[in-house]
Amino acid sequence: MNFDMLPPRSQLVEVLTRIYNQGLTTTSGGNLSILDDNGDLWITPSGIDKGALSPEDIVCVRADGTIVGRHKPSVEYPFHWMIYRARPDLRALVHAHPPALVSFSIVRKTPNTCITPQSRDICGLVGYAPYALPGSEALGEQIAATFSQGFNSVLLENHGVVTGGQNLTQAFQRFETLEFCAQINLLAAKLGNLQTLTDDQIRLFYHSDHHLPEFVPERHSSRELELRHDICRFVRRAYARRLMISTGGTVSVRVQDDTFLITPFGVDRYYLNPEDIVLVQDGKREAGKLPSRAVKLHQQIYRDHRDIDCIMTAQPPNATTYSIVSRKFDTRTIPESYIVLRDIPIAPYGLTYTDPRAISAMIRPDAPVILLQNDAVLATGKSLLQTFDRLEVAEFSAQALINSLHLGELVPIADEELRDLRRQFKLS
Ligand SMILES: [Zn+2]
Repeated sequence: MNFDMLPPRSQLVEVLTRIYNQGLTTTSGGNLSILDDNGDLWITPSGIDKGALSPEDIVCVRADGTIVGRHKPSVEYPFHWMIYRARPDLRALVHAHPPALVSFSIVRKTPNTCITPQSRDICGLVGYAPYALPGSEALGEQIAATFSQGFNSVLLENHGVVTGGQNLTQAFQRFETLEFCAQINLLAAKLGNLQTLTDDQIRLFYHSDHHLPEFVPERHSSRELELRHDICRFVRRAYARRLMISTGGTVSVRVQDDTFLITPFGVDRYYLNPEDIVLVQDGKREAGKLPSRAVKLHQQIYRDHRDIDCIMTAQPPNATTYSIVSRKFDTRTIPESYIVLRDIPIAPYGLTYTDPRAISAMIRPDAPVILLQNDAVLATGKSLLQTFDRLEVAEFSAQALINSLHLGELVPIADEELRDLRRQFKLS
């Protein structure tokens, strides 16, 4: 779907419904807007159930101030106007009170976005606007002044967040990624030892070369066509389970030998279609499509490991937090975790881009899941289902570990019992 071709009122409903369904706003909080080429402001209404909004509910505030629509515009619409006036490059805004960002706003801190290169790239640094009465001129002035300094994401003191973009997709992606960052910052605060990235480390990410030479496939086999659909199905499932966000996560599946399918670069995971998936064959990419930045890493793993047919790199919040703090992810918690995950090594930051071979060498039958430091969780398997399961078990296990921190110290399954598990389940 070409989201930008939808009329503003449909875009707003689509994104607000998505925000609501993801638990990132309550029914009463939050508002979104688009400024169109005529200078008209399209904005969500005041006091209408966010869980059941339709395009007809959207209000248009004309450039001359006339209000068109069956409802009143959001009470926050003055600050939307003031931000657009201060930043003519912004054409869409998202405002809400998502729980993790509100935690920061009520202790007057901003989340650190330099935890992964993607989050720094998408959100930038976060601005901070002092408290003022909702709907007031003063609030609008404070927020617009912070946006004027060049920030695209602004935390509102004792209130919530506003993100802006050149279109609604970009504003939404900044909003969703920033809440994800805030979640990880909160989880890392429980574990301790948050490791953030320097500018030099972040620069490595931009140097990753995923522009493989192109080729035009002669035909598409039935197996390949089926796998394209299967990848989309699992990406949607991972998104719905919060194992991925719209801007992060790569899935690939081997078609045969040195041929595999991989998710594309820069496409919103929520709207992924089978035709977006990129075929990579003998080191070349399907003409006209750009694969994920991680393509060379996936290619290396398929070449080195004939028994691996699927790879997923994703950022489920709890497991990803273990990649950002220097603390061992212990899988000796319950039999399921130990059997499915075994050992989880951590690959130093940057190897994804500089030395994929070194990461590939870390994958073993007793280490099918790897943490990529300040980046993601990498899971491998024989099939999409097995790989997805490993990702999901990693996230559940990490969540249980982090939640247990304030209950008491982990009592791991004893070595003798682990031996029994390996014997019983024929593990190496
Ligand atoms: Zn608000």
